[in-house]
Amino acid sequence: MDELATASEHQKPDEDYASAARREQPPPEPRGEDDLDQMLAEVAASPVARLAFEDAQARENLLLELVRARGTTSQREVAIAMGTTQSAVSDIENGRVDPRFSTVQRLARAVHRRLEFRVSDEQDDQHGRLKNETAAVGSGYTLTKVLTTLVRQQPTRGSQSYIDLSRRLQLPEVVVRDTVDRMQQTGWVTRVDDIEPARFGVREDRGLVIGISLSHRQIQCVLTNLRATAVRAEKVVPLGSMAPDDVVDSIAQVVDELRSDKSLGQGHEIVGLGVALAGLVDGPTGEVVFAPDLRTDEGPWRHVSLESILQDRTGLVTAVENDANALALHEYLLQGEEQSLAVVLISRSGEGLGGGLVVNGSLAHGIGGISGEIGHIVVDPEGPPCRCREGARGCLETYVSPSAIVRQIGERIRQIEKGGDVPPTSLQEAAELVARGNQSATSVFRSAGRKLGKALTDLTSVFGPNRIVLYGPAELLGDEAISAKAFLREVRSGEANIAFAVKVDMMPKVLSETSVACAAAATAVHYFLDQPWRWVKSFERPAELSQMALVGAL
Ligand SMILES: [Zn+2]
Repeated sequence: MDELATASEHQKPDEDYASAARREQPPPEPRGEDDLDQMLAEVAASPVARLAFEDAQARENLLLELVRARGTTSQREVAIAMGTTQSAVSDIENGRVDPRFSTVQRLARAVHRRLEFRVSDEQDDQHGRLKNETAAVGSGYTLTKVLTTLVRQQPTRGSQSYIDLSRRLQLPEVVVRDTVDRMQQTGWVTRVDDIEPARFGVREDRGLVIGISLSHRQIQCVLTNLRATAVRAEKVVPLGSMAPDDVVDSIAQVVDELRSDKSLGQGHEIVGLGVALAGLVDGPTGEVVFAPDLRTDEGPWRHVSLESILQDRTGLVTAVENDANALALHEYLLQGEEQSLAVVLISRSGEGLGGGLVVNGSLAHGIGGISGEIGHIVVDPEGPPCRCREGARGCLETYVSPSAIVRQIGERIRQIEKGGDVPPTSLQEAAELVARGNQSATSVFRSAGRKLGKALTDLTSVFGPNRIVLYGPAELLGDEAISAKAFLREVRSGEANIAFAVKVDMMPKVLSETSVACAAAATAVHYFLDQPWRWVKSFERPAELSQMALVGAL
């Protein structure tokens, strides 16, 4: 930076900087007991400030290399090397700005805050506050980054050393070391073996979450670790009434039982609650906008602020999500790293066909929670009526959902076979017809697969996921069922039509009893990693640094 200060003697914008660079040795004498110098030294004692200094140093070295290599450097090149604008360089040259401020500005930028300067002759109390705020921002920030990296990258990179973390997070090793050591002391991080260099992973059962799948007349509950793997057998609770207050009572009771379970032992902490259900959920608020399957005598649930009600009632931080979105978050947790994926959820019975999209590591909600609602892609505007709105026709779920498949087979048998097989009443019966060689049933499974395959091809053209995971009943996605073979062969035939012959990894998974409850837990983990201090008191919240007062006699 001092080279720039010296360069301010030059006035012309594209003046040669070589002479300034040659004067790099010896370093200039510090200017005695300057208050600003002292303040900067104290800021430098905080982790993020050190990062900023190292960053500044790296840029300065780059600039010197540039000058050494060419013997000359323009103002524009200086601006690029310093990561700033040409006019900022000009300001420094003209003495309008002290170059050392830019170091502190980098600190503010590193923590996404605006930095305001005020010159004042007030004394030490402000000075101390600045130091504390800076330290708080630095530690909360790095802690969140380290925790998220260790959990998210576990599936792909395994445990990591200080150096791995430092490189991937672009934070100085000393900062990472401080943070990991503190997390080790509080039991969140553990050293995985005795091999050098030391490698660390998150202790997955240090934080536990409760996952609940809420469906009509029943809740299913699991207690999982931070990988959304169940650590307790699931619990199924029948619901007598579907009135929101009664459902909340039942959930609160299950949560209380789990929290008071002494057999969990020491060293664990229940950090929060995740709830997944079929229906539209407003992402930011966790409000159930519309859930056709959750019905009271007055009709289906509409505008129930389930997330905030449960949070008040249980005292646990809560995340409520649509079931397909929750499965998408679970897949993301299983696969690791930031990527894009689509999950399609075919319900085990009824009309449900949903979807969830994770785009570059974020769940897409869209307006009114509609993102990923693949079931309402229109396949045929003249097709069967759909429940999604008055007058809607021919949505994909009116062809591909279990009840749609059962209905279509019944229609064909009645129209074509006349006196042949009995029309099925369930997906299982429909699959049995296929196994017995019924042509109507087989062609309906095939045609449903073709329509889904076409929709997935279109979806791929629109947002290009790395992977598409299909969740659904064994009759459609299982390895054994003949009906599933007929269905999946047609789904996969769509792959050949993907634009530009892009290859997408498609993976069918049969829904288990606990899939959605574990996905609900994964939802809680997802939001916990976003803002751990909201979920766990012992985590430090990055302080709000909207303003920092710089105190000193300049
Ligand atoms: Zn529809």
